[in-house]
Amino acid sequence: MNDTATQPAREPDARSRTVAIVHEERYFWHQSYLDYGPAVQDHQLCQMETPESRRRLLNLLDVSGLLDRLRRVRPQPVTRADLLRVHTADYVDSVESQNATGGEGGEYTPFGPGGYDIARLSAGGVHAALDAVHRGVTDTAFALVRPPGHHAERDRGRGYCLFANIAVAVEKLRAEHGPLRVAVVDWDAHHGNGTQWIFYDDPDTLTVSLHQDRLYPSDSGTVEETGGTGATGANVNVPLPPGSGKGAYLHAFDEVVAPALTAFAPDVIVVACGFDASALDPNARMMLSATAFAELTQRILALADTHTGGRLAVVQEGGYSPLYVPTCGHAVVATLLGDGADPDPVTLDLDADPYQELQPHQAAAVEAAARAASASGALGRQSV
Ligand SMILES: [Zn+2]
Repeated sequence: MNDTATQPAREPDARSRTVAIVHEERYFWHQSYLDYGPAVQDHQLCQMETPESRRRLLNLLDVSGLLDRLRRVRPQPVTRADLLRVHTADYVDSVESQNATGGEGGEYTPFGPGGYDIARLSAGGVHAALDAVHRGVTDTAFALVRPPGHHAERDRGRGYCLFANIAVAVEKLRAEHGPLRVAVVDWDAHHGNGTQWIFYDDPDTLTVSLHQDRLYPSDSGTVEETGGTGATGANVNVPLPPGSGKGAYLHAFDEVVAPALTAFAPDVIVVACGFDASALDPNARMMLSATAFAELTQRILALADTHTGGRLAVVQEGGYSPLYVPTCGHAVVATLLGDGADPDPVTLDLDADPYQELQPHQAAAVEAAARAASASGALGRQSV
């Protein structure tokens, strides 16, 4: 749907683009301690998923002055009814019943006391960002939420994700404002399985995931998963080999993501923005730099300007390097604001590393994804 009656036209202008940010101190209070057993010294001190990468990103935005240029949007927690549009009652009950003590949401989804409330606030943060973009309060928005959401499935949490933040927010937005064609582009290093399966039979939601091939979950994310009944072509996977860098990602974006979004013609674009495809991430084996994230953001902004009047929400997913996530996130926010790329203080010039350019086996992986997407109709009339 491209309903100009409900969506006032705006002139895209990178220099005057307004950017909102959603953040809450309580996002950093969520605990997700995995028990690595007695072979790991003080595992509560050394964890993969901690608040630090996101907290330090917010701190860096403050120190650099970018935070002063962002409009803060305060979230409200989503309700149980909001969750039930996406999740099963048994699963919601299970998480809610463990709220006081903390507990377990599923596979690798431990949470501390108050975890149900913080997870509802996280999904509410995504909704607040989407709602602000949809209503034209802001051109774009960055939702710095935690816990993440893209692995959570209808009936269970997975991979640090308790509730499917983007799916819950999209369905809440639809319940409030009517039908919307939504495109979700997931560039987290891991497959966006939760978002994919929740929307698998929905022809009005395009889900696209760029991820390290079979990293997590290992049993989803193939090019053959192209959408369910009545929605063939509404899901696109681009599994990339480990070691993929800027060349592979930009090629995948140009050959698959951009044509898929163009063919779909969304009303709004949502990016599931993990930073764990960075070269410094301990939880994946990819090679992206902060400037590569900035280039991906430029490309998605250009697509938003063309198709959605600039409506774009960028949603924090994974990212496990407290050292480098802030630099990568800062580059994305600076790009949303229309700024040029700053020098990378951490890696200096990661893009100059050998093998950052597109390699033949990476090109073959992109070609396979493009072929499958084309066969499903996801790329429209374009043939590959
Ligand atoms: Zn991830």
